[in-house]
Amino acid sequence: MPTNKPAHLIDLRSDTVTRPTLAMREAMANAEVGDDVFGEDPTVNALEARMAQLAGKEAAVLFPSGTQSNLVALLVHCQRGDEYIVGQKYHTYLYEAGGAAVLGSIQPQPIAVQADGSLSLDEFESVIKADDPHFARTRLLALENTHAGKVMPVAFMDAAARLAHTRGLAVHLDGARLFNAAVASQVPLHELTESVDTVSLCCSKGLGAPMGTVLAGPAAFIREARRWRKMVGGGMRQAGIIAAAINHALDHHIDRLADDHRRAQQLALGLEAISAVAAVSVSTNMVYLDVGSASAGDALKEALKAEGILIAGGRHIRLVTHLDLGDADIDRLLDRIGALLPGLVR
Ligand SMILES: *Cc1c(COP(=O)(O)O)cnc(C)c1O
Repeated sequence: MPTNKPAHLIDLRSDTVTRPTLAMREAMANAEVGDDVFGEDPTVNALEARMAQLAGKEAAVLFPSGTQSNLVALLVHCQRGDEYIVGQKYHTYLYEAGGAAVLGSIQPQPIAVQADGSLSLDEFESVIKADDPHFARTRLLALENTHAGKVMPVAFMDAAARLAHTRGLAVHLDGARLFNAAVASQVPLHELTESVDTVSLCCSKGLGAPMGTVLAGPAAFIREARRWRKMVGGGMRQAGIIAAAINHALDHHIDRLADDHRRAQQLALGLEAISAVAAVSVSTNMVYLDVGSASAGDALKEALKAEGILIAGGRHIRLVTHLDLGDADIDRLLDRIGALLPGLVR
């Protein structure tokens, strides 16, 4: 049996770097499987039903990745020549290689993301296009929760969705880290999804599954999403081994997200005590560290790498806590940044 985690590595680049635990691998090995494109994988079917229920939606469908799940959601919500309104820094606009435009001929209308990660509802409303042949047809509002680790509260989700619906738009939520939001704000997941039409939930981030994202929504929507999933090459066969990993994560890795959040707070506190650190902010499992210059950040990255600690470079460094990091790893990181950074900052 391969080991879960290379003992020497401390990796804070993302919560996607986690390796399946031994217990998760066992669940995968023991999964009952079938051909999921035929709808015959019992483990996938059970997972989709479970996720639909968790999200308070009629149905759900498993995708290999969050990018594909979001893409298909946009493709089902919008037709060629339609438009979606989205945060300028949201994943569905910035980090999905322009897929909605390339594959769906869907036009994005990005608007600024506010300091708390939400959108200004006034600005949102001001960019909704009138029904006029000059304009693309505005069809959808795309939200994100968490964004850069920040939790959008139920009140914002509800207000944004209510406004969108009043104006005849549908609402899609990129909930790649919505479980972090639910745990951090101590509300059931379905309260955060109640007012949106569709939600995409990643399982390869904090939940620690090796892959997989579930899209949940109305039954007719999910039926259509299955057709698009096949078209974009996301139909998997004995995907029950993936579903079993996710099912295991739902059983064992949700409540423990609070540990990641606590460690992020512990990390931020420690960083604030290092005088060479220019600024620190923290929300859920993400810490943002300002080291004053890109050259200092790049030098810190290289120096830590030589000691088996992986972080991103640049001036503003995102540090992400996850299931493969313990308290001792955070202590070691703080110790090494405290020792190395003062010599790198000019
Ligand atoms: C990771 C992530 C996704 C999906 O990414 P994949 O790597 O394609 O699974 C979507 N939205 C956000 C905000 C993410 O962080």
